[in-house]
Amino acid sequence: MARFVPTPFTVGVHDLMHRPGEQREKLFDIVLPEQMGEGLVAVAKGARMHLDVRLESVHEGILATVDVDTEASGECGRCLEPLTEVVQVDIQELFAYSLDEAFDYCVTDDHVDLEQMVRDAVVLALPFQPVCRPECAGLDPETGERRSEGQAQSPGESIDPRWAALQKLASEQDS
Ligand SMILES: [Zn+2]
Repeated sequence: MARFVPTPFTVGVHDLMHRPGEQREKLFDIVLPEQMGEGLVAVAKGARMHLDVRLESVHEGILATVDVDTEASGECGRCLEPLTEVVQVDIQELFAYSLDEAFDYCVTDDHVDLEQMVRDAVVLALPFQPVCRPECAGLDPETGERRSEGQAQSPGESIDPRWAALQKLASEQDS
């Protein structure tokens, strides 16, 4: 078996093992040793991550309930401006005592390693198509400049010239 190497995500559970009903809470403030996520928006290496962890001894192992609170950063998928996004996920996994149980995680020696369960949940929670604002109009395909709201136009939707003058008037009143 691989030798146990402590990381910011590992926690000793010696005092809980094989004592069903015992439980303990622990707060983690982690400086992320490795980036989480590969998309336009990810939780960067060095980002702060707060974990609110409850560990509960059950018959088959240690039940870990984790509330994750962190911030992802990246760029808007439309206009490429930098953005940050709060990421909050609540997860629960069982760390089993024995590998032959039908569980994804197990207690290693007398520790549990929360990193993989946290990583999986955080990556799933990251926006696939992040936008700086829901109404972001993106970049002008001709100039490459950011478009203002007045220029926003859904693909394939052309403006009837008879309405164009009226729309111009409306957008002038908006500003
Ligand atoms: Zn944008």
